[in-house]
Amino acid sequence: MPSPTAARLRLEHPRGGEGRPLAPPRTRRYNARMKITDVRVRTFVLPHEEHSFHPTWQPAPSPSHRLTLVEVHTDEGITGIGSGGLLTRLGTTAGFFVGRDPLAIEQHVQMLSTLAYFLGRPWPIELALWDIAGKAAGLPLYKLLGGKRDRLPAYASTGELRPKDQRVEDVLRMRDEGFRAVKLRFHSAHAPDDLPTLEAVRQAVGDSMTIMIDANQGWRYPGDVSPHRWDLRTAIAMARAMEEFDVYWLEEPLWAYDYDGLAELRRQANIRIAGGELNLGLHEFREYLRHGCLDVYQPDASFAGGITTARTVAGMAHGAGLMFAPHTWSNGIGLMANLHLAAAMPNCPFIEFPYDPPNWTPEFRDFVLTEPIRIDGEGNVVLSDKPGLGIELDEEKCRRYEVT
Ligand SMILES: [Mg+2]
Repeated sequence: MPSPTAARLRLEHPRGGEGRPLAPPRTRRYNARMKITDVRVRTFVLPHEEHSFHPTWQPAPSPSHRLTLVEVHTDEGITGIGSGGLLTRLGTTAGFFVGRDPLAIEQHVQMLSTLAYFLGRPWPIELALWDIAGKAAGLPLYKLLGGKRDRLPAYASTGELRPKDQRVEDVLRMRDEGFRAVKLRFHSAHAPDDLPTLEAVRQAVGDSMTIMIDANQGWRYPGDVSPHRWDLRTAIAMARAMEEFDVYWLEEPLWAYDYDGLAELRRQANIRIAGGELNLGLHEFREYLRHGCLDVYQPDASFAGGITTARTVAGMAHGAGLMFAPHTWSNGIGLMANLHLAAAMPNCPFIEFPYDPPNWTPEFRDFVLTEPIRIDGEGNVVLSDKPGLGIELDEEKCRRYEVT
C-alpha cells in the first residue's frame, strides 16, 4: 500500500504513473538570504597526445584542450559551476559578488556587462549562478527556463577539413552511431574545392541525414591573418551551389558584422543562413533582426551574455518566426549550459554536438566530467533530472590536469 505521500506524488507527476513511483522531489528549500561567499577560477589543461586537432577556425593545430572553470560558492553549501567562454583575469572579480544574493541574476548580468568591457567574457560566472538557481530549486535548469522538452536531436559538429573519402567514412560511422544530422566545414583557400566533399557525403547518406555547412567566416582566431575570406559574391555562389544538396543551413558565410552583406545573401540564396556564435549582447542580435540577416540565431550562452541574454535572443528570434540553435563549441560544461537553454525554448531544432573523432571525442571534450555527454540510439542528447546544470566533476581528473 503506497503511502499517501507516494500516491500524491504519482498523481502530481504523471510520468511516474507506470507503476514506478517517482523519487520524491528534492524539497530542500534554499534560504532566501543565501549569499555568495567566493568566486574561484580554476584552469585545466589536457594535452593532445595521440591526435592533434586542427579545426578550421584555427590557423594551427591545438597543442591541448584548455578549460577554465568558475566555481561560485555560497553560504548554503551550494556551489555553482560554469565554463565555456574565454575568461581573463576573472580571479580578481570575486569582490563584485561576495555577500550578494546569487539568484539576483539580472543584477549580476548588469554587473558582468560592465566587467565585459575590460575583462574578456565573464559569462561563465552567470552560468554558475543559474546552476545555483537549479540546485536551490531542486530542478534541472531546462525546467526552470521553460521546460519545452527533455531532449534534443544532436547534430555531429565536425571541426576539421579532411579528405573527401575520409569524411564520407566518418559520416557513415556517425550515422551508424545514431546521428541523424551532421555539420561539415568549408574552409579551403579556393572555396569551391569543398563542394565535392558535400556532394560525396550527400550521395553516401541519401536523405537519411540532415546536413549543415559551416564556413567559419564570421570572426578570426588570434593570429589568423590568412587572406582567404569569402566576399558576398563568393558566398552567393557557394550558397546556390549548396542548394542542390539540400543543405539545412549555411553558417557564417560572411564577416559577422557585415549586416548588409548577410541580408543581401539571405535574399538571394534559397538556403537558411545561420550565425551569431561569437556575437555579444542584445544590440548585435537586434541588428541582425533589423537587417534581416539570419534564419538561425546561434548565440552561445557562455560568450553572448550568459543564459539570460541568449534566452532573450532566442525569444526575439521566436517572435520573428526564426530559429535558435546555440553554438556550443567549448567544452562539456558550455555544451550543457546551452543544451538546457535550447531544450527550454520553443524554436530550437537541433543541439550542436562537437564531435570529430578521433581528434575530438566526448572523452576529450568533457575530460573533467565524471561521465562524457553522449547521444542515445536515436541521435538525441537527453537531459537528466539532476538539479541545475546536472554536471558532476571528476575531482581526481581535475587534480591531475589542474594548472596554476
Ligand atoms: Mg560555427
